[in-house]
Amino acid sequence: MLIDRITDARLVGPTPTDGRAAERRHDIGRRHDVVLGGGTVLAVRPTGAAQPGEAVGPGGVEPGDAVRPAGARRPAGTTLPVQGRVVAPAFVDAHVHLDKAYLSAAVAAAPAGTPYAVAGRSPEPSGPRLDAAIAEVGRLRETVPIERIHAGAALAIDTLVRHGTVAARVHVEIDPVAGLDLVTFHQALTASVADRCEVQLVAFPQRGLERPGTRELMAAAMAEGLDVVGGCPYVDQDPIAHLDAVFALAERHGRPVDLHLDFHDEPGRSLIEAVAERTRAHGMAGRVTIGHVTTLAAMAPTAQASALDLLADAGIALVVLPATDLYLGGHGEPGTRSLAPVDRAIQAGVRVAIANNNLANPFAPFGNGNLLQAAWLAGITRRMADDDQPGGLLAAVTTTPAAILGLPEHGPQPGRAAHLAVLDTADPASVPLGAPAVLATLRAGRLVHRVTVPEPVGGAGP
Ligand SMILES: [Zn+2]
Repeated sequence: MLIDRITDARLVGPTPTDGRAAERRHDIGRRHDVVLGGGTVLAVRPTGAAQPGEAVGPGGVEPGDAVRPAGARRPAGTTLPVQGRVVAPAFVDAHVHLDKAYLSAAVAAAPAGTPYAVAGRSPEPSGPRLDAAIAEVGRLRETVPIERIHAGAALAIDTLVRHGTVAARVHVEIDPVAGLDLVTFHQALTASVADRCEVQLVAFPQRGLERPGTRELMAAAMAEGLDVVGGCPYVDQDPIAHLDAVFALAERHGRPVDLHLDFHDEPGRSLIEAVAERTRAHGMAGRVTIGHVTTLAAMAPTAQASALDLLADAGIALVVLPATDLYLGGHGEPGTRSLAPVDRAIQAGVRVAIANNNLANPFAPFGNGNLLQAAWLAGITRRMADDDQPGGLLAAVTTTPAAILGLPEHGPQPGRAAHLAVLDTADPASVPLGAPAVLATLRAGRLVHRVTVPEPVGGAGP
């Protein structure tokens, strides 16, 4: 359903880049009507200040439409009243894996005797670790039926949209076992969900480039039209050769690079300088993204500051993945938590996104596909409650990942793409600190998700 007006909304958005920050701050907390058309925001006016010819038609939607009981009738109309709730830019997931989503559920549901029925529990006394998770997921991906993998991926898209996400960069595993089957599957899925979620596909060698045939498969995947060259140098014996191969492939196809990088607690093994060197050598400033980089959290303060400055200068974006980073890393000194310093990175001028990475599998048993909750988790871990810090967290799940994906600006401001999320709060300050529920998702002005409240269960009450 196309929406042409959202009424009675409180608007939030990251600090605008057009020099009108003061004006926008003035707007915060006031109620506005947002006029939509052609997939963009046409105008934003104080509630009730409709212009001639803008009157809501007789088919306007009555109050409560955003939380209408399932199956209840509603009058025809394209106005969405939100009754003083917050409307934010819709979310963009800069880094997510669909082909291993909900593997934990597959294991839990498997009857005894199936090859993947034994749920792996980390034998590590200090907690779960990355190499064990990679091995466990590798085993599951070879034994769980492909239909379940496909169903988990489709469910993951539904989950993302339900949580207000309208675009995602998806890493597709490329290895000699899977061949290009997952590429074909993801391309079909991308086409089938395009009206709800714009998916960008990364060729991702999860098990490295050193297994025979993997490099050829990566080249074939890019020739098939994948959008981004991925990499995972920490799983190879020769990570530098891995980086060189990734950048060479990206240059050959004129595509961006998106690396899983430095997912450990050993600063001495950091590849940040090597990536910056290659980014400059290939003229790829603004087109290289690195994910995890938990090494930053283990660095001494001066080394950390230098590394962040290097990322900012080289035009390399940073994606932190709190649900996985905090779960699998941080095995060093007591108190060490394995999350890159989001606050300091933003302060240093690095483009920072916060993303989901995984949903319900050994990499992230706690992941649920909710980017607001990911921002909340990063925020509380880094204690980002002051001044513009909450705005930085919101930007890290909205406009910054959109920029990393090369998408046009979006949000509740005139001229921007009408990708919007209606949140169940009247308090702009609770976004993202309170991680309010998403009541409705709009993509290009189209309502692609709304909360429906089930009818009460029949029978006598207490
Ligand atoms: Zn990942």
